[in-house]
Amino acid sequence: MKLRFLGAAGEVTGSCYLVDTGALRFLIECGMRQGGRQARALNRRFDFAPRDIAFVLLSHAHIDHSGLLPRLVAQGFGGPVHATRATCELLGVMLPDAAHLQEKDAEREGGEPLYTVAQAQQCLERLQAVDYGEELRPHPSVRVRWRDAGHILGSAILEIRVGGTQLVFSGDLGQPGHPVVEDPAPIRQADVLLVESTYGNRNHKNMAQTLDEFAFALNDTLASKKGNVVIPSFAVGRTQDILSIMGELQRAGRLPKLDAYVDSPMASAATRITLRHAQLPPVDRVRFTESTEDSMQINAIRAGAVIISASGMCEGGRIRHHLRYNLPRKECAIVFVGFQAAGTLGRRIVDGAKRVRIHGEEVPVRAKVFTIGGLSAHADRDALLGWLGKFRRAPAQTWVVHGEPTASYALRDAIRERFGWRAEVPGQGQAVDLT
Ligand SMILES: [Zn+2]
Repeated sequence: MKLRFLGAAGEVTGSCYLVDTGALRFLIECGMRQGGRQARALNRRFDFAPRDIAFVLLSHAHIDHSGLLPRLVAQGFGGPVHATRATCELLGVMLPDAAHLQEKDAEREGGEPLYTVAQAQQCLERLQAVDYGEELRPHPSVRVRWRDAGHILGSAILEIRVGGTQLVFSGDLGQPGHPVVEDPAPIRQADVLLVESTYGNRNHKNMAQTLDEFAFALNDTLASKKGNVVIPSFAVGRTQDILSIMGELQRAGRLPKLDAYVDSPMASAATRITLRHAQLPPVDRVRFTESTEDSMQINAIRAGAVIISASGMCEGGRIRHHLRYNLPRKECAIVFVGFQAAGTLGRRIVDGAKRVRIHGEEVPVRAKVFTIGGLSAHADRDALLGWLGKFRRAPAQTWVVHGEPTASYALRDAIRERFGWRAEVPGQGQAVDLT
């Protein structure tokens, strides 16, 4: 029985792992790569025949884990996609939205979209919802259980028993004590473990410090400098975290008078879905803008606005318009609240670029840039090691995935030192024997 690392090996996007028992092939994740031309080219070809895949197991709804599902279906995959109930609800808005962005990109740049809205809709018919803790048998030789990963709504750790082997995939693990979601469920044993390592080499600031920094950024920009705050945010997860934190800070009287705009139809839809599953403290003076006209009206606001928009790494969507209007103004601030992958516009701004290109135009960066790491929906180094420390015995194999190389190797070394386990960072495309 073989496991192939088809994505998120030495990188954070494009999660995709193929299990091949000889008699059966299935995928864990089918994620889209993000970050530039090379990533876009890789998204266009699968290193396997989609029609040979029996089913897909999905940890959570983020596009870098789910975003190629419509293309998989369009190219001949005929089986079900299993995911938690909330993940299925979120995909119902996220995949058509991703398709819409692909169609718009194709229109602008020429060529075929990666997939169409119609293909995304067809893909949604393949989703089959499971509950946390429920055992699913997608095939007579496979049993799967979804356990709460505490990363975003519906996110899961996958416990997969295939043949005699217990395979555990951490998915994206959340940081304990994070708003909106539960803490990651402890897992006690695995023969083969795949663990994410986005922050394998770093610790986050604690939540109290993070709230201080966030409150400072808003007060400094809105009250002192009389500018706007732009927050690039994943529509799903992070936007709801921000709203929850803003509600809490407003209730404590720690924010100035402001008008908040959630300018992403997907973020609005994801917030509605979240409210069906969890409670959020209400935010004063928040507007959810739907139409393009409403979104464009925000461009005229010179001061006092907190604009939360997607995409989280500034690669597409309405955020790019808000950056175009606010980046050149020194009284404004861009507040980054999530990980910015190498090659993305967000990363260039965080890394201190003086000018960036947006919609074919040179835009000077004069706004103040804040990076608030403590809000990450990913477990930091200590939290990853804490979660790993709950295993009762060493897995026979531990594969450190979903991280940039420095982060993955740092976590691998820490696992070897602290636990004495056999841990490796897989290479892109590498196949390993599971038996
Ligand atoms: Zn994620």
